[in-house]
Amino acid sequence: MNLILLGPPGAGKGTQSKRLEDKFGITQLSTGDMLRAEVASGSDLGKQAKDIMQAGGLVSDEIIIGMISNRVDHDDCKNGFILDGFPRTVPQAEALDKMLAEKSLKLDHVIELTVDDEAMVERICGRYTCSKCGAGYHDSFQKPATEGVCDKCGSTDFTRRADDNAETVRNRLNAYHEQTAPIATYYGERGILKQVDGMAAIDDVTSTLENLIG
Ligand code: AMP
Repeated sequence: MNLILLGPPGAGKGTQSKRLEDKFGITQLSTGDMLRAEVASGSDLGKQAKDIMQAGGLVSDEIIIGMISNRVDHDDCKNGFILDGFPRTVPQAEALDKMLAEKSLKLDHVIELTVDDEAMVERICGRYTCSKCGAGYHDSFQKPATEGVCDKCGSTDFTRRADDNAETVRNRLNAYHEQTAPIATYYGERGILKQVDGMAAIDDVTSTLENLIG
């Protein structure tokens, strides 16, 4: 099963993808995570992407499409994948269609998490993850049971994304509305778009998604 989770930064794509990974045995492919790994490794690609990401702009379609095309061939995508943060422009959506056709794969679901922009700034600016296992937390909405200790792995080391600040978030939201929102129309016209209320409680969003794709 192959699906796309669409929605602005902070809509919950990453959180929900991780839950769907566990439930359906499919693999989350987050272009943002891949780019952050490139930046952390200091690769040429990472050097090209770093400033763009810090400003909240979009990395070139060519780089992104190449990254995804390689990644879907890996063994862990045999059961399927969840695209999180890709496609983000109509040319990326068109390239994805072409790439999937060449690999004899297809999209089963495109699901848009609909949310309120202003709430996204608050959601994003308070979020952080465990440096060891990647579990996600939030200053107000999802604190660990014991302050400063990861619920999942017990680590006390946490990180915040460099682009999770109010100014960059507003640029990321603008980029979403200008360049990514038209993708919903693209998939809507093909009859495979479904919408889910991303403002609902995290567990409720998960149940709705599981029912839609299960
Ligand atoms: P994300 O983790 O999805 O919020 O992505 C973080 C940043 O990585 C974005 O603000 C962009 O700068 C870059 N990025 C991630 N995915 C893409 C994509 N599909 N196309 C262009 N830029 C991307």
